[in-house]
Amino acid sequence: MKQVLATEGPGDACPPPRLPAAVDVAIIGGGIVGISAAYALARAGVRVAVFEKGTLACEQSSRNWGWVRTLGRDLPEVPLALRANQLWQDIQALADVGFRRNGMLYLQETQDDAAGHQSWLDGAKSHGVDARMLDSHAVRQLLPPSRRPWTGAMYSPTDGVAEPHLATAAIARLTRAAGGLIYENCAARGVERSAGRVSALVTERGTVATPAVLVAAGAWSRLFCGNLGADFPQLKVRGSVLRTEPIDAGLDVAINGKDFTCRRRADGGYTVSQFGASMADIVPDSFRLLPHFLRPWLANNSFVRLRFGKRFFEELAIPRHFAQDQVSPFENHRMLDPRPSAHGIALAWKRLRHAFPVFEHARIAHSWAGYIDVTPDAMPVMDAVPGLPGLYLASGFSGHGFGIGPAAGEAMAQLIRGQTPGVDLHPFRFDRYGT
Ligand SMILES: Cc1cc2nc3c(=O)[nH]c(=O)nc-3n(C[C@H](O)[C@H](O)[C@H](O)COP(=O)(O)OP(=O)(O)OC[C@H]3O[C@@H](n4cnc5c(N)ncnc54)[C@H](O)[C@@H]3O)c2cc1C
Repeated sequence: MKQVLATEGPGDACPPPRLPAAVDVAIIGGGIVGISAAYALARAGVRVAVFEKGTLACEQSSRNWGWVRTLGRDLPEVPLALRANQLWQDIQALADVGFRRNGMLYLQETQDDAAGHQSWLDGAKSHGVDARMLDSHAVRQLLPPSRRPWTGAMYSPTDGVAEPHLATAAIARLTRAAGGLIYENCAARGVERSAGRVSALVTERGTVATPAVLVAAGAWSRLFCGNLGADFPQLKVRGSVLRTEPIDAGLDVAINGKDFTCRRRADGGYTVSQFGASMADIVPDSFRLLPHFLRPWLANNSFVRLRFGKRFFEELAIPRHFAQDQVSPFENHRMLDPRPSAHGIALAWKRLRHAFPVFEHARIAHSWAGYIDVTPDAMPVMDAVPGLPGLYLASGFSGHGFGIGPAAGEAMAQLIRGQTPGVDLHPFRFDRYGT
């Protein structure tokens, strides 16, 4: 019988006291991607250690909406999403990550909405996605009474949610049980090379010999890679979220209502936001990376608002090049914890309550924000870093890496072990940006 591990408590209750002299793979970043890669490697008997500058999942992986979706993904990501859906189910059987296939609805009001959804379905059907169009009658069966004239929806009954505050810590416990090592409050500063190949990871607590380093450092991956001479085009976008106190709203399916989003949480409340609640702080990298990001920004400027403020000067003060024997920017910034955008979440909250009067009785319990790591094409890089043998990158998940995290980690573990990944990683290669 499978053992179900405890679900409460931090992911790293007993940090291993000393760093190992050597491992087969060192992973930078204790978010969902780094920990999932470590889990896959540890299960395969590989000696693996994860180094996290703060605490597990302290950045994006605990701050997201918790959607585990196939719907609406860029088509190259669909195989990852399908694989992840299975992995979430497998993991849930071993440890509580809050995974539920409670279904997901992309609601529509206009013919244009419907045409967009149908076009996505037509493109995705060759992948065998479990998704279909619903008419307005079928949609209303899944929703509480609504004031909005929903004409239909794109629906997946097997998409769902997991709980960000549980997931990474729970997979970390499974990783440890499989022999993986995890060090929190231990920033990676850089790598050592020997004969042109990675030979060690340098951390604030010492050096660990290793032939392979995976950078899964979320919003910090550009800085880490840049210091080693690899130009990874990545910016940060601030996403803001709120959660309600528990309420019996009669809504279990997760919904994208176009100008608001909402999903039921394991604690009985709802996580509420909107795609348009994102804000891009103008920073020095905004100018350096303008040739990469100008076109996507012009195409998506209804989703992401630009803001000039003190973040520009904060990032200006972070050195782009630093020595490995001195305190690094990663130690000086243990956790990105931006302020939520009151405007963006207030709008989402207003629209939700207008759409579903049952939420007029709900109360906001908490709001927060996270920096999303975005690439120019809004797809991750999952690849060996060109010109740096032994260095791998899995980053730039652009606001949708939680749901595919377990599959991304598994695929990176396969790549690092020299196996053919179970999903095609060609669309996610580093050199597609020509940097
Ligand atoms: C508001 C919001 C809503 C979102 N909603 C969803 C959603 O519903 N569904 C979905 O699929 N995705 C969603 N996402 C995106 C998702 O959260 C991310 O894509 C995913 O968590 C990325 O995981 P990661 O492990 O790559 O990065 P992270 O979770 O950011 O982890 C990277 C870790 O690396 C650590 N680190 C960085 N540099 C170093 C260093 N030098 N040494 C040691 N450690 C280091 C950081 O401290 C951090 O903990 C959302 C994100 C946000 C912010």
